[in-house]
Amino acid sequence: MRFIAFRNDQGQPALGLREGDTLVDLTALGGPQSLDILLRQGEAGLQAVRELASRATERRPLTGLEYLPPVLNPAKAFAIGLNYKDHAAESNFEPPKHPVVFQRYPSSWVAHGKPLVRPHVSVQFDYEAEFVAVIGKPGRYIPKERALEHVAGYSLFNDGSVRDYQLRTNQWMLGKNFDDSGSFGPEFVTADELPPGANGLELRCRLNGDTLQSANTADMIFDVATLVAACSDAMLLQPGDIIITGTPSGVGLARTPQVWMKDGDVCEVEVEGIGVLRNPVIDEHVS
Ligand code: ZN
Repeated sequence: MRFIAFRNDQGQPALGLREGDTLVDLTALGGPQSLDILLRQGEAGLQAVRELASRATERRPLTGLEYLPPVLNPAKAFAIGLNYKDHAAESNFEPPKHPVVFQRYPSSWVAHGKPLVRPHVSVQFDYEAEFVAVIGKPGRYIPKERALEHVAGYSLFNDGSVRDYQLRTNQWMLGKNFDDSGSFGPEFVTADELPPGANGLELRCRLNGDTLQSANTADMIFDVATLVAACSDAMLLQPGDIIITGTPSGVGLARTPQVWMKDGDVCEVEVEGIGVLRNPVIDEHVS
């Protein structure tokens, strides 16, 4: 199943089930208002919305839809650094022996279709194509062999980064958390629609139509199961928590000449079977 979080005609958050180029408004039918709520209901919740959708008589078109991030308020958003060998090398880092984990806040990302904002304090605004694993089943000390049972599904992320702020200290948090600098979406794809761990999928980033990153998710140093297990060693993973799994080589920082996103650009993250996350870029205007 493929879910889209959107803003309905009353301006309220709603959850839809996508069928082709139409959407069943589950919320209007009495279903949950968000994926956050649905994920907490577990398998029973999914079964209920499946039945709800099968009785739907109305569909709305996707055109003109105002998307929201698939999970509105994840309690935790883990982002993984240097998770592809070639990207670690281009960044002049050794491949890590353990997952490199940093944090992103929901204020740092926008939905599909919304503008990424280049802050006025920097021109070094970079793209990073990634996919996201969304936790469905809670767990602590999850063994790697059972980790994928805790993943409800997948989405896409542009881990937009303000490089000078990111790299002037050892902790990357600031440069990874400028307001509206990343994006998350367009939809949430349940795990059963994809290969286990979303492994073996083509991943790309395009800026204004030019392909600047191209890799396969099988090239990750730490796969989804390993990342889930590693994060759960420290924290209780809860439904709606997300793991942003890292980017391959080809980022703007490492190119000659360097490539930075700027006002008027359009950036797309695509992963086979998950979708295309598209965002325009605008300059921040400070009055
Ligand atoms: Zn990243």
